[in-house]
Amino acid sequence: MLIGGHVSTAGGLVNAHARGVEIGAEAIQVFSQNPRQWRPTNWKPDDVAGFNGLMGSGPVEAVVIHAVYLTNCASRDKEIARKSLASLVHALRLGDAIGAVGVVLHPGSSLGGQKAAALKRVGKILREGLAEAERCPLLLEDTAGAGDTLGRSFEELAKLVEVAGGDERLGLCLDCCHMLASGFDIRTEEGLSRVMDDCDEIVGSDRLRCVHVNDSMTPLGSNRDRHAPLGEGELGDAGCAAFLSEPRFEGLPAIFEGPGFAGKAPAKEDMKKARQLRRRGLRSRERGVSRP
Ligand SMILES: [Zn+2]
Ligand SMILES: [Zn+2]
Repeated sequence: MLIGGHVSTAGGLVNAHARGVEIGAEAIQVFSQNPRQWRPTNWKPDDVAGFNGLMGSGPVEAVVIHAVYLTNCASRDKEIARKSLASLVHALRLGDAIGAVGVVLHPGSSLGGQKAAALKRVGKILREGLAEAERCPLLLEDTAGAGDTLGRSFEELAKLVEVAGGDERLGLCLDCCHMLASGFDIRTEEGLSRVMDDCDEIVGSDRLRCVHVNDSMTPLGSNRDRHAPLGEGELGDAGCAAFLSEPRFEGLPAIFEGPGFAGKAPAKEDMKKARQLRRRGLRSRERGVSRP
């Protein structure tokens, strides 16, 4: 598992890499553009080249891209749909340029409309987006289940993969805060293991390319997306330790998105805590103490 955090790209990708090194991350996540604006970022070729040079040799082994929050691939509004596709293509092409693990995308919201039609609209945009980039995977993130968001269950995520054409570049990014809020009881090793058995069966765990490790301020089934620092939320130390040591997540980037202990972006102490919890989880699994 590559313990990592979301970092700012202020000043460019080389600076983002430096922030990752500074906090002690083995993986970083960046936004492909300002997450609250439609305007794409004009990434400078020398910045991209500099970043790629650093990635070949540094402590940071993987980069994940997060698509912008404004994106709603399920929107009935033609203008929003068009802009969502454009920002998705922009993100995937950046992913190609920097060898990203994938672009993480919130699949969208039907905003009160019919779910079947919304899924169809998402599928069309995802297929078009993938066709506009060479290699970069597209990772659908599970949601906390608020409102009419799509992707709150494995059935829905599997459906999204299907309507998007089932391409092998389509993957998953599971966020433990969203999972808990969406009603998956993953607070123990056993609970998480059962949930991941379902993931295997319904979507296929080979689709899983990245996890987000955030604690949750709101309880099981609350359908609210409120991140807490690791160990300080409803998952707690034990829940986060179980998530960070799940055997099916081995080798994947595990990105903490914050806010961290200081109430800000992921910092050194958050990465340290993640590693502590991972060790605790691995020890517990070795002992098998919490097994029935
Ligand atoms: Zn997330
Ligand atoms: Zn979230």
